[in-house]
Amino acid sequence: RAKSFVREKYCFYEEEMSLELERRALMEQSLHQALERDELLLHYQPQICAQSQGLVGVEALLRWKQEDGRFVSPAEFIPLAEESGLIVPIGEWVLREACAQAVEWDRAGLPPIQMGVNVSPRQVEAPDFVEMVLRIVESTGISPSKLVIEITESLALREEEQTIEKLKTLQARGIQVSMDDFGTGYSSLGALRSYQVDSIKIAQTFIRNIDGIGEGMTIVKAMLAMAKSMDMHVIAEGIETREQFELLRDEGCDFIQGYYFDKPMAAEDLIAKYGNNEIAGSASA
Ligand code: C2E
Ligand code: MG
Ligand code: MG
Ligand code: MG
Repeated sequence: RAKSFVREKYCFYEEEMSLELERRALMEQSLHQALERDELLLHYQPQICAQSQGLVGVEALLRWKQEDGRFVSPAEFIPLAEESGLIVPIGEWVLREACAQAVEWDRAGLPPIQMGVNVSPRQVEAPDFVEMVLRIVESTGISPSKLVIEITESLALREEEQTIEKLKTLQARGIQVSMDDFGTGYSSLGALRSYQVDSIKIAQTFIRNIDGIGEGMTIVKAMLAMAKSMDMHVIAEGIETREQFELLRDEGCDFIQGYYFDKPMAAEDLIAKYGNNEIAGSASA
């Protein structure tokens, strides 16, 4: 009896596994077609100067709207795109779309802002990464200093000479590099120094714990001090409350990104909120 119980359990487990694999295979298949079918789009989340509370930049965030109108979360499909290598063509599309959007906003009279674009390790490690980025910068006409490439700690973890060189080449052209989700990976401070990023983004995990007098703030303060000493800007991510915003501002954090100010939004909503004089006036008031 025990044996058959074990077997049943095992079969059940196997069935679950194959269902999960099937689901992933199906999703990968439709992700293949997502680009051609025009199902991918970008939303933009504002980044606010902690002192002036004015708009200083946005982060482009990928959205996948499937045929049936359902949105699939990037947390779900980005890992799949990374594993399958689809992130390379998709990431190229994201970069072109984001740069073109920045130029369009510029023409529409939005004050000059930074455009943050996430790139996966797989993209950076592709042999033609630098050429691809420079080609897009040139063809869209974005001013290189407005582009911020967000890399992850998992890339820095490997600390490859070639990768460091690639990013330095882009930086020499005026493009900025930011370390995303800082503190969540396992990269060393040494890696941070070799990569010489222009800014770090403090992950929401650390922000969640700063309210009140917990030790959360100690870690954030250490990150801010370290960034200052390395001449990097700091962006705090996932700010949801006024208290979090004020704590970070008072500790000298430069930029704020989070639901407290704005959720990621469509390009036209961003121009509606930040593009006209009326809003510009109320933001500076
Ligand atoms: P990320 O780069 O760290 O982006 C920040 C994420 O935090 C976004 O989730 C954003 O919507 C969310 N967020 C911002 N403020 C708040 C807040 O106050 N509260 C909460 N709860 N969440 C907040 P999203 O858009 O779901 O993206 C998740 C991740 O997917 C991104 O994390 C990034 O790693 C990846 N991703 C998104 N777009 C791209 C892309 O174009 N290329 C690549 N390679 N990865 C991307
Ligand atoms: Mg990011
Ligand atoms: Mg992040
Ligand atoms: Mg991330």
